[in-house]
Amino acid sequence: MSIEKVLKEYLDHFPDDKIGIELIKKSAIFAEEAHKNQKRANGEEYFIHLLETAYRLAEWKLDAESISAGFLHDTIEDCKITKEELEKTFGLEVTFLVEGVTKISSLKYKEDEAGIESLRKMILAISHDLRVIFVKLADRLHNMQTLNFVNPNKQKRIALETIEIYAPLAYRLGMQGVAGELEDLAFPYAYPDKYKWLSQNIKETYEERMKYLSSVEPFIKNQLEKAQISPVLINYRAKRLYSLYRKLMRYDMNLEQIYDLVALRIIVNSIEECYLILGIIHQLWPPMPGKIKDYIALPKPNGYRSLHTTVFCLDNKPTEFQIRTKDMHEEAEHGSAAAWLYASQKHTRNRSRNSADSKEIYWIKQLKEWQNQFPGSKEFVEALKIDFFSDRIFVLTPKGKVIDLPAGSTPVDFAYRVHTDIGNSCIGAKINDKIVPLDHKIQSGDVVEVLTQKSKKPSKDWISFVQTNYAKKKIKSSVSKTIALPKKIEYKIICHGRVGLLKDISAIFSRNHMRIFSAQTMGVDPILTIKIITDFMDKDKAEGIMIKIKKIDGVRGVNYKID
Ligand code: MN
Repeated sequence: MSIEKVLKEYLDHFPDDKIGIELIKKSAIFAEEAHKNQKRANGEEYFIHLLETAYRLAEWKLDAESISAGFLHDTIEDCKITKEELEKTFGLEVTFLVEGVTKISSLKYKEDEAGIESLRKMILAISHDLRVIFVKLADRLHNMQTLNFVNPNKQKRIALETIEIYAPLAYRLGMQGVAGELEDLAFPYAYPDKYKWLSQNIKETYEERMKYLSSVEPFIKNQLEKAQISPVLINYRAKRLYSLYRKLMRYDMNLEQIYDLVALRIIVNSIEECYLILGIIHQLWPPMPGKIKDYIALPKPNGYRSLHTTVFCLDNKPTEFQIRTKDMHEEAEHGSAAAWLYASQKHTRNRSRNSADSKEIYWIKQLKEWQNQFPGSKEFVEALKIDFFSDRIFVLTPKGKVIDLPAGSTPVDFAYRVHTDIGNSCIGAKINDKIVPLDHKIQSGDVVEVLTQKSKKPSKDWISFVQTNYAKKKIKSSVSKTIALPKKIEYKIICHGRVGLLKDISAIFSRNHMRIFSAQTMGVDPILTIKIITDFMDKDKAEGIMIKIKKIDGVRGVNYKID
């Protein structure tokens, strides 16, 4: 792998883009220098990893900014290069992509259902730009190819993360080929026993299957020639191992239930030819009922288009045929990366590059375009829409746990979501290490830290700005507890006893709408001490009452304490 190879791949799709070429070259040189003394786990120069990542991105026909970010994606994390330095050297757009990849990479994968789904969503939500995910996928592909050099504990975690998070993301973006590649690379590390069982059981017939496929190919080629169709490409494949494993789990691990172990793919120029070939195949061999799939008329949710049929082929062997056009094939292999880029290319070069806002608006526009492009695949667009436009945000605890909240949530909502006690004792918050007010609106991707104080009680005012009903409920119940246990005040009155004195004193309390809980007289006549316990309103009022009591005839002294 070399810079020249990356540049050549880029120029294949973007001839004459001198600005792009310069950007890619500059990033490569910068990255090589930044990682100069670093080695990969396999002993290779670190730069090899960046070349491989960048090459993938060029192969996916992504723009120069993405390829540049491919070279630079580890500089913040591993070389302590600052955001400011990247901005100065490469501009805001590339820096934005590198930062996005860095953020995603800091997310921690944990093995629980709910966590997995919110992590996938969070990755989409904090990316803001699909190119961030493309760079991350290219990075992950090379990391998986070199995983055998990493220490075993790490291997399993990375492999599971790949299967649970990154392969589904690739699939969701329509990058079938990438998703399958990631899964097969991860399979042996994620589920070693199952991998062993399956590769042993499949291996026995693998040679035969390849031999068989190689005999079908010339046969069908010949038949198509007779019909005067010259396909762009015919190839065949044995099913990917992990995809077979997943399918087997649905069929009680019974290999005989699987009919697409062998498949031939016929790529042609037009949709008419696709249907023509389907007809020819069905005339040659009887199709298997229920196995004819027209994904051209009805694309799959991720936009996948193709004709599939399984027929009792040569030797009566069930064989799958996939027939599609060149464009459909490109899309299936590389996903929306290519489609996305062509649509954006025109805008990117002219657009002002320094506004994150315009990027967000563009992003929304892009999704809407997809919606129009795949009118039959609501699910796909919906999935993205839910992730991006739903009213949910995904934020992190300082330990990297993902917390999912409604949009507009504040640190108080976050605190109650983590734990009721943390909510109740919350006195402040830091977001991304900066102190913010408690009514601050949290954004997706923020790291939120709650500051607490044990004796602290929630404030009634919080109810006016919290977003979640849960927090509201908890604040209310905590505040009403405070009312149920009101403070009390105890007056100690020293006086010269006389008839009607107690009545005069109690009149002052009743005029001020204060309840007397108890009154107790102590001492020996004529000097008495009266203790009165009433409910506490406020200090000024308590003071005022004390002065009034002092003025009563016979009172020598008054003091009070608040309990
Ligand atoms: Mn990397």
